[in-house]
Amino acid sequence: MSDTRRGLLIILSSPSGAGKTTLTRRLRDWDPSIQFSVSATTRAPRTGEEDGRDYHFLSENAFKSSVTEGEMLEHAHVFGNFYGSPKGPVSEAIEAGRDVLFDVDWQGAQQIKNSSLGQHVLSVFFLPPSIKELHRRLVSRGQDDAETIAKRMLKSWDEISHWDSYDYVLVNDDLDATEARLKSIVTAERLRRSQQPGLLDHVRHLQSEFEDMP
Ligand code: ADP
Ligand code: 5GP
Repeated sequence: MSDTRRGLLIILSSPSGAGKTTLTRRLRDWDPSIQFSVSATTRAPRTGEEDGRDYHFLSENAFKSSVTEGEMLEHAHVFGNFYGSPKGPVSEAIEAGRDVLFDVDWQGAQQIKNSSLGQHVLSVFFLPPSIKELHRRLVSRGQDDAETIAKRMLKSWDEISHWDSYDYVLVNDDLDATEARLKSIVTAERLRRSQQPGLLDHVRHLQSEFEDMP
């Protein structure tokens, strides 16, 4: 039987610090065939971040001209910077049956759902177990100064308030448990009828076998 399938657009969102970068990494380690959508951003790279791997770091002018050229699947203004997902690599991967993983905010998630590829979207939102723990994780990550952390905390309710527009919502308390749930969701969603275009041929083949039965 044909095991061809369509690729999924897997969108992971959460307030900053709830764990989506960590879970994105774990999902990709589990299945390296999942392609990460490297976003473009106008924010400065953090220590350890690499251009082209973590983000495409662009000037504001370069970002705006790629939006004007229609090269972004979605784009948004977050924490005073522009972010966007380049369209080209996504369409290519989906057609080839590869899944693409997006780490985008709720605005990006909505735009991707409303795009022409919207029927292949799987969206997952991570909630923190508490606001206190969210703050603790932002501090323990050690990547931002106090002012940036305060900005991220202020924005977190805005992000959390969109929890109910996602297909799945996971409270990221125990990291291993959340990872296991995320993998189960991806495994099941890959088996949706709409993701398996080869099924029609298979059923036709079964039918012809029936008809050929003595
Ligand atoms: P985000 O990408 O949502 O901003 P990160 O993945 O960077 O968040 O996680 C923020 C911090 O919290 C990191 O230091 C990460 O190791 C830690 N973290 C993530 N998930 C958990 C969890 N379930 N329990 C404890 N710490 C976690
Ligand atoms: P950070 O600066 O911490 O990497 O990301 C800040 C926020 O921007 C996060 O909520 C992240 O999900 C979001 N983000 C990252 N890339 C994109 C993107 O391409 N589009 C949108 N809409 N949001 C993004």
